[in-house]
Amino acid sequence: MLNLRAVGIFASSSARCLVLSFALAASLGNFSISPGLAASALNVPHAPAGSLPTTIVAPPDPESLDQDGLMQPTPRSSSISSRLMLPDLRTLPPGDLEIVILPNGSRELRLSNTIWNSGAGALELEGEINPRTRMTRVVQNVHARAGAELEHLVGEFVWHPTHDHWHFAGFSIYELWTLAPTGALDEIVSSSDKVSYCVIDTDIIDRQNQGFEPRRGYYGCGRALQGLSAGWGDTYKSFLDGQEIHLAGVEDGFYALKSTTNPDASLLEANYSNNAALLYLSIQGTRLELVAPEALAERRCSENGWC
Ligand SMILES: [Zn+2]
Repeated sequence: MLNLRAVGIFASSSARCLVLSFALAASLGNFSISPGLAASALNVPHAPAGSLPTTIVAPPDPESLDQDGLMQPTPRSSSISSRLMLPDLRTLPPGDLEIVILPNGSRELRLSNTIWNSGAGALELEGEINPRTRMTRVVQNVHARAGAELEHLVGEFVWHPTHDHWHFAGFSIYELWTLAPTGALDEIVSSSDKVSYCVIDTDIIDRQNQGFEPRRGYYGCGRALQGLSAGWGDTYKSFLDGQEIHLAGVEDGFYALKSTTNPDASLLEANYSNNAALLYLSIQGTRLELVAPEALAERRCSENGWC
């Protein structure tokens, strides 16, 4: 269960008019927030009329995965207030795919991966060092129109020893799936660990995004502030540590490669159903071939006899 507990709500009549801070203590599992908490936020004195979200929306229950493991929109996620300028995280189809042989003779699949933000607002991650535990917990700042701001505890920054900088933990995951005769995803045969990222603006993906700014908003891999601006993407190249799926024990054949950002739905975003990218692959030894979805049935029929 991801039980959320409000440990502090305060109002400030600063230049930003009103700041609501929700420091939310969380543990793994389902996310819930009490209607009473949301209601109390709306009753904070000095709140400009109409400036606050009318609903505070939790991520979907991870158990709402469909058969392909993709998040399905839920009544909760569809009721997100339009006043919150939420990010919307998506994954581009992975690139630079190659199979390499490791010194021990086993194979691994390497990939470049880009996560981008198609939402109305930035993904902003602010680190707060706990001097007692020396951990750096991460708070997501979500801005709202009319100057309100919501802060939500989302995880940790962790030191990456080979990248030599700070990462946000659990930003993505890469999975290799077998395919059922229908072509639907069947079983995971190999997976990366949850992949941590230094979350910064590296690539412009969508200049047409209403919140797009041509200057990079987030560019440092420290533990004070990371983020992903609207319309920008964050690419991790295939040669970097962590950009692999081990293929030990994986037979040659047809597979689906699925790359999913925000896999635990820990980050607040506008839409949880568009976080994954899917590619179909043919793996033969060290030979890797992308297979178009419309060609998959014919290829499996002619090569595997699955007709
Ligand atoms: Zn890194």
